[in-house]
Amino acid sequence: MEKPKVVILGAGYGGLIASRELEKILNSGEADVTLINKHDYHYISTQLHKIGAGTASDNKVALHIPDLLKTNLVKFKKAVVSNVDFNDKNIVLDNGETLEYDYLLIALGFDVDTFGIPGVEENAFKIRSFRSSKAIQNHITKEFAAYKEDQDPSHLTFVVAGAGFTGIEMVGELVDKLPKLCKQYDIPVKETRIINVEASDSILPFFDRKAIDFTTAYLKKSGVELMTSTKIVECKKESIILDNGFQIPARTLIWSGGVRANKLLEKWNLQLVRGRIPVDEYLRVKELDGVFCIGDASLFTKEDQNALPATAQVAIQQAQTCGPNIAATIRGEALKPFTYSHKGTVASIGLKVAVGNVFGVKITGLFAALMKQVVEARYLLVLGGPVFMVKELLNLNPKKG
Ligand code: FAD
Ligand code: NAD
Repeated sequence: MEKPKVVILGAGYGGLIASRELEKILNSGEADVTLINKHDYHYISTQLHKIGAGTASDNKVALHIPDLLKTNLVKFKKAVVSNVDFNDKNIVLDNGETLEYDYLLIALGFDVDTFGIPGVEENAFKIRSFRSSKAIQNHITKEFAAYKEDQDPSHLTFVVAGAGFTGIEMVGELVDKLPKLCKQYDIPVKETRIINVEASDSILPFFDRKAIDFTTAYLKKSGVELMTSTKIVECKKESIILDNGFQIPARTLIWSGGVRANKLLEKWNLQLVRGRIPVDEYLRVKELDGVFCIGDASLFTKEDQNALPATAQVAIQQAQTCGPNIAATIRGEALKPFTYSHKGTVASIGLKVAVGNVFGVKITGLFAALMKQVVEARYLLVLGGPVFMVKELLNLNPKKG
């Protein structure tokens, strides 16, 4: 009898952890499992803002996928998915190649939402992927070099759109990084500006008062200009237009105005809710045979509660249920319903400061920053086990690519 074919689309948190789960559960020869991802590296999205600012080394954030798959039960294929034919159970790649599946996991993650604001797609930088974040880092360095040539202050004006978690984390890294670049280029720090523009009346609008007040005070003390109740309405190459009529002369807009599910899903004739694929309690796509979806691409809602947010924490926990559920489906066993357990949220503001709420306890400052390191280390533990984690932290794992 032919082995069942399992295909996993996307090697972000969701797809990679689900692959690791299947490696643990399936017996050799029980199924053909293929993990498809655009690149041969997995990027730790929760640290992309550090790549953007240049405060983390590339090999701490981008990990070679074949090294993360511990057995030969899961085959890795570097390819870009362009379509899925759910009737014929076929995946179409952008090179025209097709792949059959019996069981499919969609874990294609997020895209940045620019809400059709003129010029943002063309002129702003996005914290979307390793590459897009690296482009921010390279651009910032070029702007320092350009300032040395013509002393135009717009080169050193860095605008971050949105003061949600991503925006604030990005601003925090710039606070750490710009003085270092100033030293390198022999430019006084006072020549640089970091401006954070937020449409709602507060930074971190979804967080508690203590975190908001702490972060506001820290950023103001660090010289960051916070513009709340202000919307960016257009991004030009050399200026940013606000809804109050002002223009900021700047050549750098880092757009962190929000996320949505991968835009590709819109092309697949699925019933989407706010761009995401609704799933049932077992993480199966409703009305499709053998198809599962997790992470930012999915919409999981329990009875009358709100949908779960687009976070790594949700994606990882879903993967830990979905992997076993795919194996159970293959074996004709009962599936387990997904239950989410919220451990808390910690937002870093540079390396040494953070704010958070962990198991209901509000934390700020250096202690919160240490907790953030613990959360990141815990992910390495889930991904590769204790030895991998320790080696990764000590930079002892062999690096490829
Ligand atoms: P993704 O991580 O987006 O992975 C999707 C994968 O699919 C990627 O590898 C991508 O390359 C691949 N892919 C996409 N399209 C294709 C295609 N067509 N063909 C092949 N492959 C494709 N969440 C937290 O819980 N805690 C945090 O501290 C936190 N910090 C964050 C900081 C930043 C700067 C950002 C941007 C996000 C942060 N998040 C955080 C949110 C978290 O990163 C996402 O919720 C998480 O990445 C979702 O995981 P995922 O597996 O669904 O998708
Ligand atoms: P978000 O939607 O949470 O925040 C976007 C912010 O941009 C909002 O405050 C919004 O008011 C503002 N905005 C939108 N349009 C604007 C405009 N035209 N002008 C000015 N401001 C504008 O998005 P995010 O911060 O990217 O977070 C995305 C997801 O990733 C969330 O689920 C978040 O929890 C998660 N995340 C978590 C962490 C963490 O836990 N440390 C870090 C980053 C992201």
